[in-house]
Amino acid sequence: MSAPLFKRVALIGLGLMGSSIALAARAKGAASEITGTARSEKTRARVKELGFLDEVVDTAAEAVKGADLVIICVPVCTSGAVAREIGPHLSPGAIVTDVGSVKCSVLADVEPHIPDGCTFVPGHPIAGTEHSGPDAGFAELFEGRWCILTPAGKATPEATERLRAFWVALGSYVDIMDSEHHDLVLAITSHIPHLIAYNIVGTVADLETDTRSEVIKYSASGFRDFTRIAASDPAMWRDVFLSNKDAVLEMLGRFSEDLSGLQRAIRRGDGEALEKLFTRTQDIRRNIIDAGQETDKPDFGRDH
Ligand code: NAP
Repeated sequence: MSAPLFKRVALIGLGLMGSSIALAARAKGAASEITGTARSEKTRARVKELGFLDEVVDTAAEAVKGADLVIICVPVCTSGAVAREIGPHLSPGAIVTDVGSVKCSVLADVEPHIPDGCTFVPGHPIAGTEHSGPDAGFAELFEGRWCILTPAGKATPEATERLRAFWVALGSYVDIMDSEHHDLVLAITSHIPHLIAYNIVGTVADLETDTRSEVIKYSASGFRDFTRIAASDPAMWRDVFLSNKDAVLEMLGRFSEDLSGLQRAIRRGDGEALEKLFTRTQDIRRNIIDAGQETDKPDFGRDH
């Protein structure tokens, strides 16, 4: 194992992301020491029990002291407040990054609080589950997954390279892009699919009781797969939609137009149009499997 890339990594937020980064960095020897904090005493106490950090402290200001890498792992609308708190306590030369699912708003909220001599390189690991909290973390979360970095403003090429090396050590592939492009791409690959899942599961929640119980009983016919996504953390996803409003509304507009096209094809009995689309979508799934981002086992590899 080569020398650790960072001497002291500070994690602000110890949910799924913070705990997985700590576990992965430990497993790969990417940091000599890992410290962290969470908002509530309950989470901090649980992290002490789980024992995946060298030190759990009470405040973000305390956590970042002496850290050469600080990773903000909180819901996106909270990032600015965290940056304001840690800014005056950062060590000279510290690299600050985050894992937020939206990049333009985080850049605007965090960058003004980063002092001269420190750098902010926004990041987003494209890896996750529908579970949250420190018990949900696991060291393999980032293996074979992409991590997008969106350096801008005070980010130096050296800091970006060191951060890239950190994510590669955790098992990820790294891509660099600008934050606007990131937000547009993620709106369609992640944010709209979550909105559709929340919407369809919400529609069922509003059905009258008899129908609803049948939906649960026969859910393996398709509905079940939406419920996994719709079980994701409400606060995290509220923040994603509030902070990526423009890109989400742009993609939602296109989605609604395409949905109207399908509605029209069904009404007119245009089977050819339906079959043509359903064939194109099979190809997309095949491409995702070929890229190693999904298993081709039937039913998502579930045991029966
Ligand atoms: P999570 O499991 O709900 O954990 C969030 C953590 O942030 C909790 O430890 C919470 O503390 C802490 N927190 C909230 N406000 C704080 C504050 N002001 N100061 C210190 N800690 C604070 O969420 P997550 O899934 O790890 O998500 C974190 C970030 O990763 C989000 O920005 C999200 O967009 C991004 N992300 C998530 C996924 C995913 O699949 N979940 C994937 C990629 C990126 P308490 O426990 O004390 O409340």
